[in-house]
Amino acid sequence: MQLVPTNFAVKRFLDFMLRKIFVGPGNRITLQTACALGFAGFKVELRDTFAASVAAKVRVARNTVLDIDTLSTECFLTRNTYHVQRGMDAKHSLWQMSSMATSIAVVKNGATKEFDIGRSKFLALLRGTKAEKKVQKAVTMALGKAAAPARRVHFSETLRRRLERFRLDIPLGWATSRGLKRMENLAGKVQPRISASYFKLLFNAWPTARRIRTLRGGKRASKCLFCQNGRDSIEHFARCEFCSVVFSKFRVQSGTLLQFMALDSGAAESCVLVAKAKALHVIFILRSLLFHSPKNACAASPHELLNAVLGTQLTARGSTQ
Ligand SMILES: [Zn+2]
Repeated sequence: MQLVPTNFAVKRFLDFMLRKIFVGPGNRITLQTACALGFAGFKVELRDTFAASVAAKVRVARNTVLDIDTLSTECFLTRNTYHVQRGMDAKHSLWQMSSMATSIAVVKNGATKEFDIGRSKFLALLRGTKAEKKVQKAVTMALGKAAAPARRVHFSETLRRRLERFRLDIPLGWATSRGLKRMENLAGKVQPRISASYFKLLFNAWPTARRIRTLRGGKRASKCLFCQNGRDSIEHFARCEFCSVVFSKFRVQSGTLLQFMALDSGAAESCVLVAKAKALHVIFILRSLLFHSPKNACAASPHELLNAVLGTQLTARGSTQ
């Protein structure tokens, strides 16, 4: 399939499948964002199906012993004669237009223009002495590198739009730039799942009742699952008594939204940022545990669950509230 011309109907379908597999409720993490997770410090990100398809064609053009240009020309002439005789409405004419030889030749001869990976780079990839199986990877990387500035702009613009809804008391540009720096700073210092919880917080992707209330007919957000004294929302968590206990377990503070989201100047320190990211991850999983427990089935209080999640070590040191 990668060797036929890029069909946008197929691309739309693949994108649809990827959205279903990788994106949570409300499509908060867009496919384009999922293809740019490297900017958030993650080691993996989704492949762009379009780039993968181009790279596969370049690999075949590089490795085949066939004369692709001649094959493509012959194919075009034969098909043309057939269409002149039978008309463009002839059976399977659309399929005949999708010859692999033509599609590979188009990429082979047009890649420098269309995908802008640089002529010398492209020729090196096409004629180079690299091990055959590495060609596709090299092309994918080259395409990814060429598209990186645009992807980064998209990534930071998306973050900016997501942060817009929070009242952070600092200019939006600062908050966006701090968010990007925090993600980069966190990379490699904590487990990816901890980074993921923080990333989702910045992108307003925590499935709080407030965020998904529109999916439930616009009803008022239900109460905070930890303290029952506020709403199930990020804004409340920033001031929630229980969340502040979680933060204190990691020897950090949260009183404002800026501090809760680790966008305050204090979180520029790596040790503070790491501690806050860990606290936020604990809050995220505890909320999830409480939310998904059937009513009346979860006998443990949020504080008991917190101690269970943190392990007995912390409680043994007497650092509970
Ligand atoms: Zn609360």
